[in-house]
Formats: sequence, structure tokens, C-alpha cells
Amino acid sequence: MNEKMPVLFIGHGSPMNAIADNQFTNTLSKLGQRIMKPKAILCISAHWMTEGSWVTGMEKPKTIHDFYGFPKELFDVQYPAPGSQRFANMIKDKVEDPQIHIDQDIWGIDHGSWSVLKHMYPEADVPVMQLSIYMSQPPEYHFKLGCELAKLRDQGILIVGSGNIVHNLRTMSWADDAKPLDWAIEFDEWAKDKIIKRDFLSLQKDISKTEAGRLSIPTPDHYYPLLYALGASNSNDEMHFEYEGIDNASISMRCVSFGLRA
Ligand code: ZN
Repeated sequence: MNEKMPVLFIGHGSPMNAIADNQFTNTLSKLGQRIMKPKAILCISAHWMTEGSWVTGMEKPKTIHDFYGFPKELFDVQYPAPGSQRFANMIKDKVEDPQIHIDQDIWGIDHGSWSVLKHMYPEADVPVMQLSIYMSQPPEYHFKLGCELAKLRDQGILIVGSGNIVHNLRTMSWADDAKPLDWAIEFDEWAKDKIIKRDFLSLQKDISKTEAGRLSIPTPDHYYPLLYALGASNSNDEMHFEYEGIDNASISMRCVSFGLRA
């Protein structure tokens, strides 16, 4: 009998966090130590957008450096965690609707996953699979698929959504003293309140109703991973905000855990 695994949503922010040592990365390191070692990790990263829902099934997923204009040090990072054909097949079998396709050679582990997992599991000794984001589907699809994934928690699989609740690259700033923009704070607080109230319907239906929401989610790729985590949570789970703050003026770093003791 496996102990039920928690579910995480991680606001991953800048790829530079992969090689940084700061409060956020310390939070990730501690999360890795607090959670019982998973049999495998299923990461829903904002950076794998597809037609259809795909899970990686290769035994040796490659480290993907899916960004430009960052230092060589970041391109040199490898995250050599194994994959798991067996668990990928199990996910395909356990999720009846929608149909999950298995990817053997296209994707691997992108920086939405490795910039986080490198701190949580620096030994890269836990098998990692990624689940893609079927971009043309509405929020409800992603939440519902998250609900389907909940059963994996009993199989020793750690589900990690990796994105950012507020993610606007057009308004972001690299200045050291960049202040959070008012609308970024407003939307992040709104989402926080809805998560506390477990009002997951509003988090699917009302995100574009305000100016703050439209500015915070100009494209939904970084927001949808949150919906997977919410879907995979259950009402008995303890919920904690493991980290919060707005980086670079318009990137929310809010991280949420479900089913993990403080
Ligand atoms: Zn990202």
C-alpha cells in the first residue's frame, strides 16, 4: 500500500532559478526533503504545448534547453533523471478520457521541469515524465484531466504543475528593484483567495473577466499547470502556500501544496 503523495503547483519564474541559490530555490530544496521519495514524478510544465495530451515514455529523456539569451552556464545544465515507460503506460491506462498519447522521441525534460526538480531532487534519481498541455482546449479540460490524475497519487507518483499564476513577459523587468505591478498583485491575491476557498470553478471561468486577469494571463500556458494541480487535489488535503511573491514586476512565484504537512 502506497502512502498518498502530495500535489504541488510551483511558480517557476526565470530559468536562472535553476542555477540560483535564493529563498525560492531553498524552498524547493526543502520541499524535496519533506516529501516522501516518490516512485516517479509527473510534471505538467508550461513549456510543452501540443495538439492532444501526451506523456513522455522514453527511458532516457533528454534535457531540453528551451530558452534563448541566457548564459552558457544555464545551457550546460543537464538533468539526467530516467524516464519510465512502465509508469507512462500506467498513466495512459488509468486515464480513460481524454486519450493520453505516449511520446517516445519528441520531448524530454524541459526547463519548466528541470529548473524546479534540480533543486528538489538534485541527484536526479527519481524517474520523471512530463505531461503536455493541449493548448487549444479550454480551462475545464485541464482541470478535469487533473482530476483524472488524482488516482496516481496512490501509486507513489508526485504530480507537479509548473507554471506561473501571473506571467506577463511584455511587462516584466530585469531591474533589481523592480516593483510588483498593481494588477499583478491584484490577480495573484484574487487567485490566492479562490484557492483558499477551494473555489476552483472561478479559477477556471473567471480569469478573463477583469483587466488584472487579462494582463496576468495574456496566454494561458503558464496558468494551466495550476488547474492540473487543483484537479488532482482533494478536499481533505491540507493546503499550504509554500512560497509567494512577485518577481520581475509581473511574474507570480506563488507555490501551493496539497496533502503535505507544514
Ligand atoms: Zn516558464
